[in-house]
Amino acid sequence: MQQITILGSTGSIGVSTLDVLARHPDRYRVYALTAHSRVEELALQCERFRPQVAVVGSADAAGQLAHSLKQKGVMTVVEYGETALCAVASAGECDAVMAAIVGAAGLAPTLAAARSGKKVLLANKEALVMSGRLFMDAVAENRAMLLPIDSEHNAIFQCLPTLHQRSLSECGVAKILLTASGGPFRARAVETLDTVTPEEAIAHPNWVMGRKISVDSATMMNKGLEVIEAHWLFGAAPDKIEVVIHPQSVIHSMVSYVDGSILAQLGNPDMRTPIAHALAYPDRVASGVDAVDLVRAGPLAFERPDFNRFPCLKLAYDALLAGGTAPAILNAANEVAVQAFLDRRIGFRMIDRLIAQVMDRVPHGEITDIVGLLEQDRCAREAAYSFIQ
Ligand code: NAD
Ligand code: MG
Repeated sequence: MQQITILGSTGSIGVSTLDVLARHPDRYRVYALTAHSRVEELALQCERFRPQVAVVGSADAAGQLAHSLKQKGVMTVVEYGETALCAVASAGECDAVMAAIVGAAGLAPTLAAARSGKKVLLANKEALVMSGRLFMDAVAENRAMLLPIDSEHNAIFQCLPTLHQRSLSECGVAKILLTASGGPFRARAVETLDTVTPEEAIAHPNWVMGRKISVDSATMMNKGLEVIEAHWLFGAAPDKIEVVIHPQSVIHSMVSYVDGSILAQLGNPDMRTPIAHALAYPDRVASGVDAVDLVRAGPLAFERPDFNRFPCLKLAYDALLAGGTAPAILNAANEVAVQAFLDRRIGFRMIDRLIAQVMDRVPHGEITDIVGLLEQDRCAREAAYSFIQ
């Protein structure tokens, strides 16, 4: 029986994770659930899954949750704040942590899970993009097991041999082919992108996801963050990671080998597949998702991405090449820009312009520790806010 902590249980990934866990009560128990502010949803999850601990964002929310749980007769202990998030991510009772908080807010608890040697199921790509080498060292030094949830990285993981400290080239890997749907604006006239609304941007053609990652998919910053994520997860040099637009989202990514073979993982666009894969690894368990009906899926198309249409993708490659804290600055500027776009304070095309300005203005340095990293994150956010004003 494995005890699981879900960081961000009320989000899109959190809910899909609970759906998979509920199919296998013989294998998994929920140790802790966490949410930022959606107290009533978290209370219902606690009633159903009976975790030992639930964590929310504030004292107010904790009071509301405790009250609601008392009325339901649920014994879950209620806590709040970042220290409590780190505690449930590193608790001795917990075996595996689903890191599914969105954005930089997930860094400290995800790192805490790695530092305490947990099985870390990583959805929170921003945490790895920000901390890079620091995170990978924490995984290696504490013998944590890192399994990718992002569908592309999960697909790549499935198509790679077990690396066992070997480099990709030692395993005969020529390239990683990271597929991208191209989002809702793949074919829209570039001149009209200035006027798109948040509603249009979050209407993803293939996937249902949280708002932030949906906007990231529309700008293709999501793919840019995923290039950086692939670099750290698999030790792939930037020029060995190629983005390929594949509008049907049937192939979730591919690995190209020196002998001319390309291995791909195919599946329906449903995150329960990579979640079930990572939870049960190296076993396989049912996820509730059927295999793709290949005949109905129809022809599969592929295109090269256009950096003029998707400048965020280029900005992310640039940040990866610059190294050090540059990806953390990119990520912070993007988080501020996306929120400002969702709040209708800036237009869609201001997202990439704002990030480019912050990247120019805020000098990057080496990553030494988490304190320095969070300081860079703060500087980049401040610069982004001042540009918006
Ligand atoms: P979401 O917005 O649906 O959910 C986010 C979760 O994080 C919620 O439970 C929320 O309560 C919690 N949260 C938000 N702000 C917080 C804060 N300041 N402190 C603590 N908790 C906070 O997001 P999502 O779509 O589930 O995405 C979660 C992560 O998974 C993101 O990093 C995203 O990039 C990644 N991811 C998501 C998908 C997907 O299909 N949704 C696919 C791949 C990767
Ligand atoms: Mg993805």
